Amino acid sequence: MALPGPIARPGILDIEAYVPGESKVPGGMKPAKLSSNETPLGPSPRAIEAFQAAASELERYPDGQATLLRNAIARRYGLDPHRIVCGSGSDELLGLLARGYLGPGDEAIYTEHGFLVYRIAILTNGATPIVAPERGLKTDVDAILARVTERTRVVFVANPNNPTGTYIPIDDVRRLRAGLRDDILLVLDAAYAEYVSNNDYEAGIELVATTSNTVMTRTFSKIYGLAALRVGWAYCPEAVAGVLNRIRGPFNLSSPAIASAAAAIEDTAHLERAKHHNDEWLPWVVSELQKLGLTVTPSVANFVLFHFKDNGSKTANDADIYLKSQGIILRKVGAYGFPNALRMTIGSENDNRRTIAALAEYLKGAA
Ligand code: PMP
Repeated sequence: MALPGPIARPGILDIEAYVPGESKVPGGMKPAKLSSNETPLGPSPRAIEAFQAAASELERYPDGQATLLRNAIARRYGLDPHRIVCGSGSDELLGLLARGYLGPGDEAIYTEHGFLVYRIAILTNGATPIVAPERGLKTDVDAILARVTERTRVVFVANPNNPTGTYIPIDDVRRLRAGLRDDILLVLDAAYAEYVSNNDYEAGIELVATTSNTVMTRTFSKIYGLAALRVGWAYCPEAVAGVLNRIRGPFNLSSPAIASAAAAIEDTAHLERAKHHNDEWLPWVVSELQKLGLTVTPSVANFVLFHFKDNGSKTANDADIYLKSQGIILRKVGAYGFPNALRMTIGSENDNRRTIAALAEYLKGAA
C-alpha cells in the first residue's frame, strides 16, 4: 500500500499555476515575441555595461540591502530610500506583501480581470480571494468597496491593469483609499506607470507618502527592459517596509541585477526613447486592429487587448494558431476571463507591421 505523501497547506492546490507568455514557435524561426509586454528597445546600454562589469565579482554575495539601487530610485523620484524595498521582480514583492499580511480566514480583493499573480499570492497564504467586478473593463471602486468585510486585509489594484491596459484616475484611487478601513492594506501595482501620460493619472507615490496603509509596486521588467534580471521595488510606509525586510530573502537581488537597474534608472534618455516609441506605435496598432474589424480595449500601457466577434467564424484561438504558424506569438487571455480575445505587446516597427499583416491574412473573408 502506498504511504500517504506530504499534504500541501489549504489553498495551495486551488492555485492554477501562472502561465507565462510563450516564447517559442515551431520550426525554430525567430519569433515576433509580443506575449510578455517586453520593450522592443531592450535595456539601456549603460545597464548592459553595468551587468558585464558585475561579472568580475560573482564569488561575492550581493549587498543584501540593494543600497545602490534604493538610492538611485530614491534620487530619481525624490523618495526616502528607507521606505523602498527591492524584490526579485515585483512578483516577489506582491507575494511578500501577501505573506506579510494575509493568512487563513482573511480576505483579499482584486478585480475581475486583474493580474493573476494576486490570486496566486492570496491562495498561497491560505487566504480567500474576493473578486470585484469591473465596469467597462476598468477597476470599479464602488464594486471593491461593496465587497469589503471585516475579514478584508488587502486590496490589490493594478493601475494600469494587465491584460486590459485600462486605468483609473488618481482621484478614484484616492476615493478607494478613503473608503477602505485604515487596517486594510491597499497595494497599487504600477508596473506600467512609465507609459502613462494622462493628466489624471498618478502611480500613487503621494498616496504612499501620506497614508500609513498604501504600497506602490514598480518594475524594471517593462519600460526598462530588464525582465531577465528580475528587479522590482515597492515604496512603502515605514512599518510595511519593516515587514517586507523581515520576511524577504536576505540576498533577494543579485549583484548584476542591482548594478544594472541602478544604471538603467539614470538613463532617462533611453526611457524617453522607449516611451516615444510606444506613443508612436500604440495608436498605429490600435487603428490597424480597428480597421480589421476587431474591438480594441483602450490602453494606456505598452500592450493592447483586442476582441474577436462573438459567434463569428474567426476566433482568438484559431488566430493564435495561425499567428504562431507565422512565427508571431501573442498572449491568450482565457485565464483572465477573455476566451475570445488576444493581448498584443507593442513591438518593433517590423514586428507590429508583421503582426497586423498576418492578422489581416487570417481575417480575410471573415463574416
Ligand atoms: N504587475 C503587473 C500588472 C504585470 O503585468 C507584471 C508582469 N507581467 C508584474 C506585476 C510582474 O512583473 P515583474 O515581476 O517582472 O516585475
